[in-house]
Amino acid sequence: MRRPRHPAYGGPVSPDENALPRTEDEWRVRLTPEEFRVLREAGTERPFTGEYVDTKTAGVYHCRACGLELFSSDTKFDSHCGWPSFDDAIPGRVKEIQDHSLGMARTEIRCARCDSHLGHVFHGEGFTPKDTRHCVNSVSIRLEPNPG
Ligand SMILES: [Zn+2]
Repeated sequence: MRRPRHPAYGGPVSPDENALPRTEDEWRVRLTPEEFRVLREAGTERPFTGEYVDTKTAGVYHCRACGLELFSSDTKFDSHCGWPSFDDAIPGRVKEIQDHSLGMARTEIRCARCDSHLGHVFHGEGFTPKDTRHCVNSVSIRLEPNPG
């Protein structure tokens, strides 16, 4: 199935965007089964199992599907919820979609470039001054540590 493009979200578009898979079958061969389940089927990894839950390394987290820079380690904080948590995203890189699955009203977050599922965003929990928690699956992102 061809996914609709969303130019209105306006995230920076890299010149290699045309190289992105166009079908779910193409994504399936490019990703591991767990990455595919989370990124392309909006799955959720089990809490406290992801590789970045407690990571403090300085760097930038990229979309594991397409490589777009999504979150800076500066915005990562300890939420003790079991998933990597960020109180902000790099502007324009993450889009929000209302999600009513599981009988809950939640806001899903996806990569603005490749439309892959990242997790959910929550407001009003009081963790940080920005009062926002982007709750992200480790398998949806890849940390690129700062040089040095
Ligand atoms: Zn992406």
